[in-house]
Amino acid sequence: MMILTKKMIEIRTILQKVGQSSTLTLPSIVVIGSQSSGKSSVLEAIVGHEFLPKGTNMVTRRPIELTLVNTPKGQEEYGEFPDLGLRRITDFSSIQRTLTELNLAVPDSECVSHEPIHLTVYSPNVPDLSLIDLPGYIQVVGANQPLQLKQKIAELCDKYIQPPNVILAISAADVDLANSTALRASRRVDPRGERTIGVITKMDLVDPTRGAAILNDKQYGLRLGYVGVVAKAPATPGLFKIGHTNLMSTITKQENAYFSSHPLEFGPEAGVNVGTTTLRKKLMNVLEQTMSSSLQGTSDAIKQELEEATYEFKVQYNDRPLSAESYLAEALDAFKHSFKQFTEEFGRPQMQELLKSELDQKVLDLLAARYWNKPIEDLSPAKPEVDSIYDLPKADPESLYWHRQLDASTSALTKLGVGRLATTVVASSIQAHIDRIIGQSTFANHPFARDAIMEATSTILNERYYSTSDQVENCIKPYKFEIDVDEREWAHGREQVGNVLKKELKDCESALGSLESAVGGRRKLKEVMSFVDKARKGDVIVEGDGRSGAGGFSAALLARGREAVFLRDRADIIKMRLMAVKSKQCAGINNKYYCPEVFLNAAASKLASTAVLFLNVELLSEFYYNFPRELDLRLGRQLAPSEVEKFAREDPRIRHHLEVIRRKELLELVLEKMESLRQLEGRERERRGGG
Ligand code: GDP
Repeated sequence: MMILTKKMIEIRTILQKVGQSSTLTLPSIVVIGSQSSGKSSVLEAIVGHEFLPKGTNMVTRRPIELTLVNTPKGQEEYGEFPDLGLRRITDFSSIQRTLTELNLAVPDSECVSHEPIHLTVYSPNVPDLSLIDLPGYIQVVGANQPLQLKQKIAELCDKYIQPPNVILAISAADVDLANSTALRASRRVDPRGERTIGVITKMDLVDPTRGAAILNDKQYGLRLGYVGVVAKAPATPGLFKIGHTNLMSTITKQENAYFSSHPLEFGPEAGVNVGTTTLRKKLMNVLEQTMSSSLQGTSDAIKQELEEATYEFKVQYNDRPLSAESYLAEALDAFKHSFKQFTEEFGRPQMQELLKSELDQKVLDLLAARYWNKPIEDLSPAKPEVDSIYDLPKADPESLYWHRQLDASTSALTKLGVGRLATTVVASSIQAHIDRIIGQSTFANHPFARDAIMEATSTILNERYYSTSDQVENCIKPYKFEIDVDEREWAHGREQVGNVLKKELKDCESALGSLESAVGGRRKLKEVMSFVDKARKGDVIVEGDGRSGAGGFSAALLARGREAVFLRDRADIIKMRLMAVKSKQCAGINNKYYCPEVFLNAAASKLASTAVLFLNVELLSEFYYNFPRELDLRLGRQLAPSEVEKFAREDPRIRHHLEVIRRKELLELVLEKMESLRQLEGRERERRGGG
């Protein structure tokens, strides 16, 4: 017979996992009583162990949903906290400690929490039962307790004592029933006393006649009746330790001794229910009946819930099956696919371009430092005519000075650390591309995966960094001694440098443009600039460095003026150089001392293409080979199922999708179990009817 309760409790436990609405559950027995009514003592007598939090400072602050599971004779007793992943705790004082901690974790300001603690106790000595322990009602709020405490406890209890739950109302015999908070609360929600069991504790503290009268009470009549108990645990701690598992039998003996010494009041003839053993049996019967009778309603509710989940699954997710694993696998495949595409688009030409533009900048800097670091008048006193403007090195082409200038520039270029520069430029570009691919992939919403991928990227690149930059440096070594440029390379360099200079000029001019609007117009800027020019020539005197302004201009304005003058001069020089490069003089290789930028540009191209050859082998190919493998490792095989689950749930949409599926599966499982339960029940009825 009791197998039914066991199965119903199993179903109840699965339903707890479904969460959602509170209607979707099977009834339980809710234990209420005022503080010190003996509530904990009764519960512990039922379980046979001391396990509830004890203390003066309101120790039960959360509901404890206690599931008792009867196990075969001779098996070990233990408890489990499924939500915490704590399994097989055989030491009940450890269960007690955990419960105390969980309760005390509720902040004083909150008083009580509605979030239940789930505890399951497995033992051959307990019946299959589902009980809910609630904070005890308090009569008077203590000095250091919040004022709303009383109210909050009452609200929490009210939530649980709703039908179809059974109410176990604990009252002490030495308190007038009319003053029992538990009975008063139960009356409000169960006025006809149909689902309340009355428990009268501390029967030993009142006169037996009076005790018997309470159990026969008609004024607060309860259909399920009253049970009188003496559940006080033996006080001697020593005895306790030895007889830890014997709490149940100790209490039973104690009760038997008391009740049998008053046969007139409590004997079989007296027609009253006494003793925790009787109480236990009553609880089993009442729970089974209550659960059975709400089975149909619950099953209907589950069917409806399942229909909703099925509908949601269809409409929102098109019946698309999904698991955390398949989600990750798909995301990873798609990512690898995008990566493959990237590998086809990023190769030698792209690296060459990257590196060349980096070297172009370096060349511009070198030229500025070696050639164009003087005011334009010093460079070219001549009128701005195309051919004469590049007359600047007034020395003849044989002049050693200009030879040395070009040699020094070339040497600075080849010795600037091309190996490291090239490796760094390419590695950071790869990183930026990977970051972009992540941004366009499923992983964009998954910080965990993003980190894993970026880490995989930098691990591989870091491993190759030093050997690659050494190799590149080695292979450009010959250029440190000599660079030969042929006609074709020269022509190409000339064309390229034209573009570089044009771009540089544009940058200069747009910077000037923004300065103009920053100071409030072209005229204003012109005024400041002419003042700065005059100051530079010494025509006007600027005190100090003009920090507090001068010539009627504020310091900030002067700073902008100086910047503008710098940009204007720079633009002038670039214009001049552009004309020079385009001029006949720079058309051929034999005039390389007149045209240092063309020569250096051609040299930079040679450096870049040589570097790229090795970057391709040492860095890029290695990366392309290792990266997908590293991904598989980090986002595949190395992940525990719980990590995969956590990953998938990072995306709210996926989390919801997974939850709908899980809910659907759990509900289907429950319905299946209910169906087999119904069959079992039918057979049981038949057997009983027939026998
Ligand atoms: P709770 O606050 O309602 O959980 O009450 P407890 O179970 O902690 O009991 C309060 C006090 O009453 C404790 O000191 C218990 O030892 C004592 N007590 C509980 N049940 C009985 C009983 O049946 N007889 C006697 N004499 N004392 C009891």
